[in-house]
Amino acid sequence: MLMTSAAGSVRAAGPVLFKAACPACRARFELSAGSLRLVIGASARTTFYSFTCPECASAVRKPAGERIVELLTGGGVRTLRLHT
Ligand SMILES: [Zn+2]
Repeated sequence: MLMTSAAGSVRAAGPVLFKAACPACRARFELSAGSLRLVIGASARTTFYSFTCPECASAVRKPAGERIVELLTGGGVRTLRLHT
């Protein structure tokens, strides 16, 4: 279950922080837009966002749905569009 209630706060002034959790060490933390990367592929299966866990340094990759893509791009996350 996504915490969609946080979506409205993205427009607030100041640096945008995204809540994330690491599947490897189960740490929870907030990441700035510069710590995230969004990759948009030709289909939902190849659309994901990734970040490096600040706790255990794992490279984490998670699928990004339409709403997450909107949130991340709106928050200034670097976006890579794959041409397939
Ligand atoms: Zn971790």
